[in-house]
Amino acid sequence: MDVQLYSDLVESLLYTHFGITPHQARLSDERLLYQARGRKIRPYQTVQTAAQAQGLIRKDLGLTGPYPPLDAADELVALADIRAIWVLGEDPTSCGKCGTRTDFEEVSGNTLRKLESTLGFSLVTPQHHRCPNCGNEFLAEDDYVKHQ
Ligand SMILES: [Zn+2]
Repeated sequence: MDVQLYSDLVESLLYTHFGITPHQARLSDERLLYQARGRKIRPYQTVQTAAQAQGLIRKDLGLTGPYPPLDAADELVALADIRAIWVLGEDPTSCGKCGTRTDFEEVSGNTLRKLESTLGFSLVTPQHHRCPNCGNEFLAEDDYVKHQ
């Protein structure tokens, strides 16, 4: 993913779960994000590592722990917050930025349950898309109107 999206996800995860900014978490320097991305560390892992190292308190889970670590589902919730969820059409889905056909995996199981309960509505066979060319990422789902 590009560093802008990486940075947006870090910001959203920090704010939602810890109520602080990247600056307060000492994650505002882009060089740190370039480094983490280069080592294939996902944004939720970057935030979790900073939270552990700095003893950050979860603000979304009450005052007493133990607090479960952030996971990939938390990151998908943040992604749905930042990027509109794409509605799948007849044609293969392609990247909104560079037009390359995207790779995807279906979102299911616990990840889907967590995503839907946070969003407050259910999704129709949602997919997590990644562009193999530019690294853009977004969520997509079947046309819910067709399923009504
Ligand atoms: Zn792309």
